Amino acid sequence: MDPTSLAARGAFVGGAWQETAATVGDVDPARDETLAEVARCGAVEVDSAVEAARAAADEWRGVSALDRGRTLNELADLIEQRSEEVAWLVSLDSGKPLSQARGDVRNSVRHFRFYAGAVDKVGGREIPLDDDHVTFTRWEPRGVTAHITPWNNPISIPARSIAAALAMGNAVVVKPSELAPLPVLALAELFFGGPLPDGVFNVVPGLGHEAGAALAGHPRVDSVTFTGSVATGAAVMEAASRNITPVSLELGGKAPQVVFADADMTAAVAGCRFGIVRNAGQSCIAGTRIYVQEQAYEEFLDRLAKELEAVTVGAGTDDPDMGPLITRAQLERIERIIDGVRGKVVVGGVRPDLPPDLAKGFFLRPTLVANVDPGETVAAEELFAPVATIAPFTDEEEALVLANRGEYGLSAGVWTGNLGRAHRVANGIRAGSISVNAYPIRYYHGPHGGYKKSGIGREQGLEALEHYVEIKKVGIRIR
Ligand code: NAD
Repeated sequence: MDPTSLAARGAFVGGAWQETAATVGDVDPARDETLAEVARCGAVEVDSAVEAARAAADEWRGVSALDRGRTLNELADLIEQRSEEVAWLVSLDSGKPLSQARGDVRNSVRHFRFYAGAVDKVGGREIPLDDDHVTFTRWEPRGVTAHITPWNNPISIPARSIAAALAMGNAVVVKPSELAPLPVLALAELFFGGPLPDGVFNVVPGLGHEAGAALAGHPRVDSVTFTGSVATGAAVMEAASRNITPVSLELGGKAPQVVFADADMTAAVAGCRFGIVRNAGQSCIAGTRIYVQEQAYEEFLDRLAKELEAVTVGAGTDDPDMGPLITRAQLERIERIIDGVRGKVVVGGVRPDLPPDLAKGFFLRPTLVANVDPGETVAAEELFAPVATIAPFTDEEEALVLANRGEYGLSAGVWTGNLGRAHRVANGIRAGSISVNAYPIRYYHGPHGGYKKSGIGREQGLEALEHYVEIKKVGIRIR
């Protein structure tokens, strides 16, 4: 799929492509060059997409669960058949290494297949009352669901909520990130003329404060699924609150990695390296606060630093270990933060030497910073970059205090050879996903979501489905 011609199609509304008067440049982060001019939808286009979805919602909700499942499997087939092309687009647009982009596409297919299989196995329940009544609940589609998505997993994050919403019988309107909109446009291209009734799947690319805000605050949207930063999540929640629209918020993180001295050090070093380097640290579950028990601290620090020094950096489509950051502004922000702790940088903290065609790209070497105050920006805020801090701890009690610091609670890694300790620490960390002795252990059919400011609700798995239904209770007197 060619980025320029894909983007030139415009927005996808009511089963047809619609050109928009205005466009936004989509930038290749490895080269700082415009890849394509993408539709810039505003309130008018969002309104017509919501109306198209509303018009289609009744037909789709009338389709049997079995047939919805069949359709979702057909959509999965459509993605799978073109998966290599889509992965290349994901890599080009987001900058992530091609092999990670392939994983992103594979997960998208899995989300569709998982919900295709789930749709005829979930629903309401009978509520025992007495012999004079039958009382039960029904799961009914909400109607029109809005999906506002980030750039860092630009196909699997949209796919996971689109598949769940469609499975439950909703019509969807998707607003992809302006920083990597092409993969969602590719979904529209694949679904065009396919098994979904026209208007059940709509895409309105554009800017956050325009298309995003219009969608989040639209009075005829029945639920909003948002994945992105805490600040934007709060704005989305505020906009939705004016219409009492339910929200699911998957927000940021600053995941701790807690390494005990009894852990398999080789595995822990490799896992912590991956937690920093994967998608250049631009992951909500990036493991960027590393705590190591004091007896093992020096050895671990040394080994991790060597691993990070060996990381290859380059354009995502060349499939190095690590690609660029997403924007120049983000690269410069991170450089300012690193400059503030320059004396404490163990490794990295600089731009890599790259060939001339990548000289303008937004690249940074993976960076490890030691001996910082836990309240400093580098240690406390989500940076969304390949930058981690490392600090020693004495015992389990202190490890838990450190791991639970701060306002996020999305994900955490625990490394130990002691089974009891693994359970105790996993239980004690206030986060939605805990991975023990590997990082990250992710499964597309398990729930994903955050404690504290990392979000509200859960995406993925059966747990996500209740966000996409209204639950109605029915009581019938039978004698
Ligand atoms: P972002 O918050 O900048 O943007 C996310 C989306 O919101 C984009 O589509 C953007 O256009 C839109 N938006 C911006 N302003 C808006 C507004 N006022 N109203 C409505 N929509 C608006 O986030 P990002 O930079 O694209 O993604 C990175 C963030 O996403 C990080 O914080 C990361 O941790 C988080 N994230 C969370 C998860 C998760 O599952 N918890 C997964 C991936 C990313």
